[in-house]
Amino acid sequence: AAVPPVAETTTRTTCPYCGVGCGVIARVAADGAVSVAGDPDHPANFGRLCSKGSALADTLSLDDRLLDPKIAGATASWDEALDLVARRFAETIAEHGPDAVAIYGSGQFLTEDYYVANKLMKGFIGSGNIDTNSRLCMASSVAGHKRAFGSDTVPGTYRDLEEADLVVLVGSNLAWCHPVVFQRLVVEKERRPSLKVVTIDPRRTATTELADLHLAIAPGGDVALFNGLLLHLLQEGVIDSAFVADHTRGLTDTLAAASGGAGTLAVDTGLDPAEIAAFYALFAATEKVVTVYSQGVNQSVTGTDKVNAIINCHLLTGRIGRPGMGPFSITGQPNAMGGREVGGLANQLAAHMDIDSAADRDRVARFWNTARVTDRAGLKAVDLFTAVADGRVKAIWIAATNPVDSLPDADLVRRALETCPFVVISEVMAATDATPYADVLLPAAGWGEKDGTVTNSERRISRQRAFLPTPGRTMPDWWIFAEVGRRMGYDAAFSYASAGDVFREHAALSGFENEGSRDFDISGLADVDTAAFDNLAPVQWPVRRGDRSDGEGDDQRFFADGRFFTPDGRARFVPTPVLPLQIDASRPMVLNTGRVRDQWHTMTRTGKAARLTSHIAEPFAEIHPEDAARLGVTPAGLVRIASRHGAAVVRALVTDRQRRGSVFVPMHWTGQNSSSGRIDAVVAPAVDPVSGQPGLKATGVDVIPFAAS
Ligand code: SF4
Repeated sequence: AAVPPVAETTTRTTCPYCGVGCGVIARVAADGAVSVAGDPDHPANFGRLCSKGSALADTLSLDDRLLDPKIAGATASWDEALDLVARRFAETIAEHGPDAVAIYGSGQFLTEDYYVANKLMKGFIGSGNIDTNSRLCMASSVAGHKRAFGSDTVPGTYRDLEEADLVVLVGSNLAWCHPVVFQRLVVEKERRPSLKVVTIDPRRTATTELADLHLAIAPGGDVALFNGLLLHLLQEGVIDSAFVADHTRGLTDTLAAASGGAGTLAVDTGLDPAEIAAFYALFAATEKVVTVYSQGVNQSVTGTDKVNAIINCHLLTGRIGRPGMGPFSITGQPNAMGGREVGGLANQLAAHMDIDSAADRDRVARFWNTARVTDRAGLKAVDLFTAVADGRVKAIWIAATNPVDSLPDADLVRRALETCPFVVISEVMAATDATPYADVLLPAAGWGEKDGTVTNSERRISRQRAFLPTPGRTMPDWWIFAEVGRRMGYDAAFSYASAGDVFREHAALSGFENEGSRDFDISGLADVDTAAFDNLAPVQWPVRRGDRSDGEGDDQRFFADGRFFTPDGRARFVPTPVLPLQIDASRPMVLNTGRVRDQWHTMTRTGKAARLTSHIAEPFAEIHPEDAARLGVTPAGLVRIASRHGAAVVRALVTDRQRRGSVFVPMHWTGQNSSSGRIDAVVAPAVDPVSGQPGLKATGVDVIPFAAS
């Protein structure tokens, strides 16, 4: 038998895809071949990986990588590129003020990348104009958490799904989008069939196959459904009166708002009253309930209200923060949570501090030793690119994301970059739909090549570790931001030697004058030395000074004691009136966008793995047979999906999995890998007024057979 190659290195790291945050063991053999396996000791996945995670080794080729800095398309040195970026940013600020520049980053950043970028923009440039594609991911959950809890705190842990007697999945195709958490749920349901699962989703999906009850809700019906549940719970006496009296405020107004929609529940939800009654009875009768929600809730112009309508039901019943109970936002991106920790959104300050609070700004300013901390929120993603388009923002730096394909009204983003006087793009890939508009391209290190931390949906911080050398002249994103900061004159504030240096500063800031008064505190990790950082085991926050930090057996929950992070320590019920679906009514179909099982974002990595692209090879439009017949759409025929913003042409997938009146199109395909399937060019740029998150799941569109268009 052939002797297997001797593995030269074995490295524990974390999957770079979804918010589950699975531990990965990467092996580099003597011949350089890389293989990956699930880390059996990682508490998110216990050795499991999904199809995307299992194929990570197939995505590491250097084909198509950006390996050198480029200025106007020509190879440049790092010094030339960084000097130019620093000079143009400084000139723009001098001439037009700090709000004339902006950074648009990514939930793909490691926490250290996020931290340095935010420090540069909010602490030294003095503008809030740094936002990220996490705005598209979970901004509504952040806003909903803050309204209800006074802090952006996910109360529970993945283990709660296994300890619950009822798991309600709202707007979540968990089987495809968070597959390892789904696998944990499947295993538990097989072991304990009394565990019930309810799915609330306009579509029948791989997730709904697990459900005891599937509510194929109408687009935008979630607030009405949970308002109705709140009234039902009250009517049935399923209320934790002591918890409500001692630990909450706002129930009366919230009930009044909910009562306003009571007469139109079936119409607003599009559901059979018997199905609604079955769900309400199950929820009422089951103490241990976890309500998991994801992009079907967040990516809506009423997303924040949807989040609060769900949380309201858990507050009324006191089902929060205890094993097997609680509302649970699962993030789409690998480090959306880490970004929130460092203030990665335009309306946040570092370490869960508030940009609107003079005391918080002062605290950050003293810690960073700067007098330039911005005193107001910056532009959120959609508004940011509108400001680029209309000339208010004159220099933009895009890093680790491609807004030309992923933001709504994507053609407007393209036009904005065409006209912007100075565009910098930090990229792993040599060519995306955005790179042609870059004045400066900066080559970034990718997964497997850089060090740092990420935080998953259950607040668990895990290390990403390098197991490959950085190719060409690529560098980590934190280093690139820091070098520009130094060249802009802030040398002392940005003189980091390693990701560990950044992490220690981030951890120290979280505990600076904090004294346990906030949810996010990892000051117990502020003194980790290089070896301890290298060996850091996955650990859930908070890790306050004096806490254990080995991460073992630490399924920590918030709010079991009824203490919240509002000024009076009480949670808030939030009134969530039912609003009509806000779409272009002149176009009769509702476009819903989302993911497929084996692709990630714009396919720059997953598109390299043949075993992933073989799952679904091209974009498609899921449409109900009755709609197809009415519109003259034939199975596998081409259809044109058009809004007033743009159009895409994809193949029709006629299926009764899709709700009548809606059409689903995946969001992965771009101008690089599909001639006509760039669906975000079609999506309307309407946003939730509280969170600024775009409503990516409800755009009014026409669906027309392509041959007839
Ligand atoms: Fe990666 Fe998410 Fe799959 Fe885990 S579930 S392997 S984090 S994509």
